[in-house]
Amino acid sequence: MRLGKTADDVVVAGGGLVGMAVALEAARRGLRVRVLDRSTPGAGATQAAAGMLSPLSESSDGGPFLSAGLASLRLYPGWIDALRAVSEVDPRYRRDGKLRVACAPPALRGLAGLARRAREFGLSAAPIDGEDLARLAGTRVAPPSGALLLAEDHQVDNRCLHRAVSEGARRTGVAVTPDAEVVAVVVERGRAIGVRLAGGDLLRAGAVVLAAGAWTGGIPGIPFPLPVRPVRGQMLALDARDSLPARVIESEDVYLVPRWDGRLLVGATVEEVGFDSGCTAEAGTLLRDAAIRLLPGLATAPVLDHWHGFRPGTPDAHPIIGTAPGVEGLYMATGHFRNGILLAPWTAEALGRLLAGGDGPEIPEAFLPDRFQRSPEDGRRSHAPNGG
Ligand SMILES: Cc1cc2nc3c(=O)[nH]c(=O)nc-3n(C[C@H](O)[C@H](O)[C@H](O)COP(=O)(O)OP(=O)(O)OC[C@H]3O[C@@H](n4cnc5c(N)ncnc54)[C@H](O)[C@@H]3O)c2cc1C
Repeated sequence: MRLGKTADDVVVAGGGLVGMAVALEAARRGLRVRVLDRSTPGAGATQAAAGMLSPLSESSDGGPFLSAGLASLRLYPGWIDALRAVSEVDPRYRRDGKLRVACAPPALRGLAGLARRAREFGLSAAPIDGEDLARLAGTRVAPPSGALLLAEDHQVDNRCLHRAVSEGARRTGVAVTPDAEVVAVVVERGRAIGVRLAGGDLLRAGAVVLAAGAWTGGIPGIPFPLPVRPVRGQMLALDARDSLPARVIESEDVYLVPRWDGRLLVGATVEEVGFDSGCTAEAGTLLRDAAIRLLPGLATAPVLDHWHGFRPGTPDAHPIIGTAPGVEGLYMATGHFRNGILLAPWTAEALGRLLAGGDGPEIPEAFLPDRFQRSPEDGRRSHAPNGG
């Protein structure tokens, strides 16, 4: 595809869910937007995810992460309706809730803590036992030590969602260019004036948004530290048509996410192996065994697929969202780690407000890109959220 000669208002580097959602929101607010992706948009962490929308199990405190996660969860129903209308693609959003079980007695303490936090934040976490568990699971669950129904935990098919957002963005006027690698942010006199593409072209824009997931920190020309690192996650899909659970089930070892087409996603590993691409037989066995321990009926379910993705991790497990320090016109929307599907609508609204004005959430200090300059300690937390 040939790129236009006139400068865009906004150029977004990275066409994963986060970049595409920001692009759609900026276009919806009247800006001329272009998304550049070095390969196929959506082929990064976005296609690898499980699509769980679980702010509570993602956070062990009531800090800014939980607030943003809950706010994003609240945005979801309206966002999905708007996406369906603009794209005519069904993102397969489900509000069945999640069964959180403790298989072994030591995990009961974690379950009790989760229930306490849920109550603290006005969310429901109903204890479930015996017959109710079988009924809510819709299939036989190995007798657990305890179980909760987290009614406000939802899920979406992240691949369908990305299709909906991309189609919606196109129909709203966003230009999407695949196979266009950004090799540098071009800064002149303290202002980002555009990006340099592999091949040498300079693409001018009024604003540059870096949303290249785990690869964002490696883009040259960012004049401050951006400690985004890849955290590999492997997942399986089983053909579970005969024993598909009715809702997401998660234990201390594994999560199981039923899809509309009879697949059951089993996730996920969390591996600090850099950009080491590929799946391992060991992880495949580990995930499958854990799934069977939880739902014995899966013993005969064939493995349909095994994939991996690189989550964009940060030292404090908080995303990096907002204006870049010291460079006018440069913005960040990255570092969403295990929660980029959950946080996509919130991030889009927050960036939409910065880029075009209007409504949108205030970005908490804990998410701002300049925190790694302020002090190394600010960029570290004592715990890391879990989840996807
Ligand atoms: C196994 C697994 C399970 C997960 N489960 C969940 C879950 O249940 N719930 C949840 O909320 N989150 C989950 N996540 C996390 C979620 O997938 C990510 O946080 C989210 O997808 C990040 O989106 P992104 O758009 O920032 O990055 P990506 O989807 O990785 O997109 C980045 C894009 O940038 C492009 N790019 C890279 N470099 C350049 C460049 N130089 N120039 C142009 N383009 C470039 C890439 O090609 C890619 O398309 C999971 C992740 C994994 C791996």
